[in-house]
Formats: sequence, structure tokens, C-alpha cells
Amino acid sequence: MTDNNQEKTQVAIIGGGLTGLVTAFWLSKEGVDATIIEKGGNAGGVIGTGNENGFTWESGPNTGIVSHPEVAELFDELGGMCEMETADKRAKKRLIWKNGSWHPLPAGVIEAVRTPLFTTGDKLRILFEPFRKKGNDPFETLEGMVKRRLGQSFLDYAVDPFISGIYAGDPSYLIPKYALPKLYALEQEYGSFIGGAVRKMLKKKDAREKKVTKEVFSVSGGLANLTGTLELQAKNTRILTNVSELTVTPFNNGYFLQGEKDNREVAIKSRFVVSTAGPYEFDNLFPFFGRSELALLNSLEYARVIQVIMGFREWKGMDLNAFGGLVPSREKRDILGVLFPSSFLKNRAPEGGALLSVFLGGYRRPDIFSLSDDEITGIAIKETKDMLGLGNHSPELLKLYRYRHAIPQYGKDSKERLEAIGRLHSSFPGLVLAGNIHEGIGMSDRIRQGKRIAAHIIKAL
Ligand SMILES: Cc1cc2nc3c(=O)[nH]c(=O)nc-3n(C[C@H](O)[C@H](O)[C@H](O)COP(=O)(O)OP(=O)(O)OC[C@H]3O[C@@H](n4cnc5c(N)ncnc54)[C@H](O)[C@@H]3O)c2cc1C
Repeated sequence: MTDNNQEKTQVAIIGGGLTGLVTAFWLSKEGVDATIIEKGGNAGGVIGTGNENGFTWESGPNTGIVSHPEVAELFDELGGMCEMETADKRAKKRLIWKNGSWHPLPAGVIEAVRTPLFTTGDKLRILFEPFRKKGNDPFETLEGMVKRRLGQSFLDYAVDPFISGIYAGDPSYLIPKYALPKLYALEQEYGSFIGGAVRKMLKKKDAREKKVTKEVFSVSGGLANLTGTLELQAKNTRILTNVSELTVTPFNNGYFLQGEKDNREVAIKSRFVVSTAGPYEFDNLFPFFGRSELALLNSLEYARVIQVIMGFREWKGMDLNAFGGLVPSREKRDILGVLFPSSFLKNRAPEGGALLSVFLGGYRRPDIFSLSDDEITGIAIKETKDMLGLGNHSPELLKLYRYRHAIPQYGKDSKERLEAIGRLHSSFPGLVLAGNIHEGIGMSDRIRQGKRIAAHIIKAL
């Protein structure tokens, strides 16, 4: 603290989740000092790993995809301190529930011809996908786009469950331009998903592009080892946890942050402020934002998600030789899907046992969120017993985690929201609105954004 009880830092980062920690790590590597201000009791955000009786599980995200070079670059930098674990090849198999049983999502042409997931009409229709006219409505929903290019059964039994698995979302709400920009670009740039994917595959990649392996990744021992290592290695960073009532005020070519910790005032002056909080925090955090801008940011909707972890010391159900199973909304079951982490990651369950991660709720089933913990675990157990052939065998480990603001849904209002973010960045130099309100919802998007923001600040200093 300085004489007048005000701390000074070059960069104040609101939120100690993955985005905040990655930003602090890369700033620290260049000798820039930062202060992370976190309202929770520890850093890590929604990432958390638990250990008990031979089980290791994730309370938040389970795995990411190496979809940006920044992911490989971060792990290279952390080499020896925190090891990326790529999933076993079993993770390539994804199961989809249809008419009372699981079917693998086709991975090759023969499987695609044989699968009962799609109608014969749509299977034939897909042959003409490369010749179909490209869409010209940037606000077309994912549902509209998939029906137009691939057909209803691909929407129902491939895209709908896939979107449940990523966004816990609804294809009739999400806009591909914002929610799945790579898919949108395939149609816009190449006129076809299939043609575009093939041409991209054949395109010569430079060394950096080759780092984008698209592999499923976790971290040896669990994802909390990543956030824990970042916390330790962001050596120029101070982390203040349990800070409540945080508010930011523009002040003399920088910002003044005030909050409360242990019944004492926290007061920090900073040249830059990076916020990784959701817009539902902005009323209190940024009282100087205009009402109309706040409304645009606050229109962002979130899927509420509940994760139920189940551990079995001895597995007596069906063969779990896959990444997991996803349940299309058409099937009207009470779970979104179930992952089999012990099938594709090391040391997640005792030998012969199994670890399951069951997801419920999502954008389409907010009703589940209002049930009690006992009711929700009851549903999760009933559904998994039925769908995974467990008979009367009950889990020895049972945990439940709720997320009211789990995954933002990039819908029609995204354009206006992105424009509002742009205007706020221009009006308030040094303020960076980050986190999953834009630039993607996955862990690898957060890793990319954190590095980009750090580079931007280092350049501006
Ligand atoms: C249940 C669940 C499952 C997921 N599964 C996957 C997956 O399988 N693969 C994948 O890639 N991604 C997944 N994700 C998304 C991924 O976890 C997130 O994109 C990423 O971890 C978010 O990191 P973040 O730092 O941006 O946000 P957060 O982790 O939410 O961190 C933000 C931090 O800011 C703090 N904060 C907020 N407001 C304030 C305030 N006013 N003052 C101080 N601090 C504040 C919060 O306490 C929090 O610690 C999942 C997310 C959830 C919730």
C-alpha cells in the first residue's frame, strides 16, 4: 500500500478465472505487474478439480480442444510444471441416443451409410451439399442453416446434440456467424461445409497452424493444475481473493477500483482494467457506462447448467469405450448428455471403476435448475441407470455443481453487443472487456483471448 492507502498496479484484472490468469501470466513474462481482483475464495473461476478415494473429477469444464495455436504455446511455456494430457483415441467415438439406444456418430463413409441416426433421404441429400447455394442472411439461425444445407435428421441427431454438448444451447437461438464462426466461414468462403472442410484439410499449413491439432485435451491430474500453475507462474501478479462490492471509476488517465475485503477497503489505481466478469455484474462494476450500452451488454442470455459427478468403484454397466453420449432434445430425456472421463483420461477412477459426468438443464430446460439437489441427483441417477444399463448399481461418489451463468448464448443480438463493446473500448481507453461475452466460449478461446489482451497491453504501455 502507498501512503494514502491506495495500491498502484499497471493492470487490474477483474476475475481470476482462466482468462484472467492467462492474461496475467503473459503480462508477467514481460515484467508487467498486475493485480487480479477476485470475488470468490480462490482463483480458477469455473475450473475446479476434486479428488476423493481414487476418483479425480472436474466440477466445471472437463476437456478443451486444441483449436488455437495459443493453447499449445501456453503449455510449451509451462512445460515441466503442468503437462497437457491429450485424450485417449477412444474419445473419438461419440454416442448419440436414438429410440432407446446409443449409436456412434459416424466417423467414416461406411458408418455414415449404415447409421440409423439419419434418414435415407438426408443421406442422399448430403451428396449434393457442395452444390447447394450459399446462404446470404448473416442472422440466419443454426437451425435454419443446417436444415437448408443438410436436412432435418442431421439437425436433430447431429447438430442438436453437438450444440447441447458445447453450448448447452438451442440451434433455433444460436447464430452461426457468432456462435460457430468457423462453420459459418466454411459456407461463406468455400460455398460448402464439406467442400470447405476438404479444401482446408488439403491446404498447406505453416508451423504455427500445425499447432492446431484439434485434439481433446485436459491436464495431468486435472484442469486445476493448469490454473494453479498459472497462478504460481504469473510472478508479477498479486491475487486478491474475497473482494466484494467492487466498483471501477475512470480517473486521471487510468482507473480507480474500490471494493471490500475482510471488512476493509481495497483501493487500487491502475492504468489498465481488464474485466473478465459477465455483463450481469456490470451495473455495479461500471456505474459510468451509459444505460443503453448496459442494456445491450446485459441482453446476453446464458444457459444454466448442472453437472452431476458419479463415481463407481466397480463398473457393471455398458461398455464405456467412448468420449460420452449426447441426447438429442427430440428424445425428450431429462439429461443433456454424459461424459465418460475415466475412459479417455488417466487416473480418473480406481482400476475397474468408472467416472461419469452428467449434464442437465441447458438453455432448453431451465426448469431443472429450480429443482432441489436431491431431485436433480435423483433424475441423473435414474437416467444413467436406464441409459447405461446399470441395473440397481448406485454410485459410491456423488457430487453436484450448479452454474447459473454457465455458457453465454451468442444469438441475434450479438452484433449490437459487439458494437457496444467496441464503443466502450473507444470511449474508455485502457478498459478491456474480456471473458466469454465475446470471442468464444471454450477454454481454448479464453487462452487465446488472454494472450491477445496481454500483447495489446504490452504494446500500449
Ligand atoms: C459447467 C461448465 C462446463 C464447461 N465445459 C467446457 C468444456 O468442456 N470445454 C471448454 O472448452 N469449455 C467449457 N466451459 C467453458 C469454460 O469453462 C470457460 O470458457 C472458461 O473456464 C471461462 O473462464 P473465464 O476466466 O473467462 O471465466 P470464469 O471462469 O467464470 O472466471 C471469471 C471470474 O471472475 C470472477 N468475478 C466475476 N464478477 C466479479 C466481480 N464483480 N468482482 C470480482 N470478481 C468477479 C468470478 O468469481 C470468476 O472467478 C464450461 C463452463 C461451465 C460453466
